[in-house]
Parts: sequence; C-alpha cells; structure tokens
Amino acid sequence: MRSWSSSAARRDRRRRRRAAVSRLDSFIRRLMAQRACLERAAELIRDLPGPVLELGLGNGRTYDHLREILPERQIYVFERMAAAHPDSMPPAEFFIVGEVREMLPAMWDRLPAPAALAHMDLATGDAMASQRLAAEVAPLLLPLLRPNAILVSEPALELPGLIALPLPGGVREGRYHMYRVG
Ligand code: SAM
Repeated sequence: MRSWSSSAARRDRRRRRRAAVSRLDSFIRRLMAQRACLERAAELIRDLPGPVLELGLGNGRTYDHLREILPERQIYVFERMAAAHPDSMPPAEFFIVGEVREMLPAMWDRLPAPAALAHMDLATGDAMASQRLAAEVAPLLLPLLRPNAILVSEPALELPGLIALPLPGGVREGRYHMYRVG
C-alpha cells in the first residue's frame, strides 16, 4: 500500500513540474517583455524630441528593433566590446565604445539634444553585479534625459526623479521595468 507521504511527494512533484518554466520559456518571455516595453516606449515618446540611447549593444537585437520602430531617431549605442551581428552594427558616429560609466559623462557635451528614450540592457548574467552596475550607471544617465523621457531597464532602478510606469499588457510585474523622468 502506498503511504500518504509518498503520494504527497508525487503530488508536490507534479505541482512543481506544472509551475516550472524552462530556461527556454523564461528567455522567450524576457525577449517578449523587452519588445513590448520598447514598443510602448516608442509610442510614449512620439511627441517628445530627442535621440535614443541604447546601453548594451550585445548581439544588436534590441538596437535593430529600435531602429526599425524609430526610423527617424538618432540612436547612440554604448558597448564596451563590439561583438554584434554585422547587420546590427551602429554607424561609427553613433557607436560609443568603452566602459559605459566613463563614456556617459563624456556625452553631456556631445549629445545634440537631451535624449527622449534610453534602454539600459547591460546585464551580464550575474544578477547582483548587474544590479550594482545599473545603480552606478543610472545617476550618470539621468542628466542626459529630458523631462518626460522614458527609461526602459533591466534591472529595476530606484532613483529620485524616476517614476515607475505600468508595464504593457502581458508583461509580468518585475520582468522588465519602465520609468518616466519626472
Ligand atoms: N541589448 C542587447 C541585444 O539585444 O542583443 C543585449 C545586451 S547584453 C544583455 C549586455 C551588453 O552590455 C554586453 O554586450 C556587455 O558587453 C555590455 N556591457 C555590460 N557592462 C558594460 C559596461 N560596464 N560598459 C559597457 N558595456 C557593458
């Protein structure tokens, strides 16, 4: 006869299997959240002039999407090592190569106008390190953004002057983050 504890363990295993999300699913959901937030941000800045700042070129996926949905905008891209897909390389004059914490202050005199949108995607896989980096980068980024500019970020940011915005429908709370500059 099966014991109560072994059937409880089986029930628990079944419940955990149902609740579990594979790493593939989690990756797909993150990309969908990223796309939804960038598209919402593009709508929100429709009447707000200024360039776009992309922090973290990586493979160039989000840069490529930004230039598709915001074809009229100048997009400045920050990255410490150029390793993007060749089709997703920014033009040299908009590609700021180096440590972002050093490059951002140099942009205070270089940007033609305060930015309308920034996307911070500097994560490297270590959640704590990414959180620390974002906390250091955000105060350097904020002076480059105009009032009412939108900041889309992973991870979450806590900074005076940033007002958290609701996420687009279908994006789970905490998966990605959107802020308006107050
Ligand atoms: N948005 C990219 C895409 O869609 O393909 C992915 C960006 S990837 C998650 C993060 C990128 O940020 C990496 O390419 C990494 O080299 C860059 N990065 C991380 N820390 C940085 C730093 N301190 N300065 C400059 N670039 C940095």
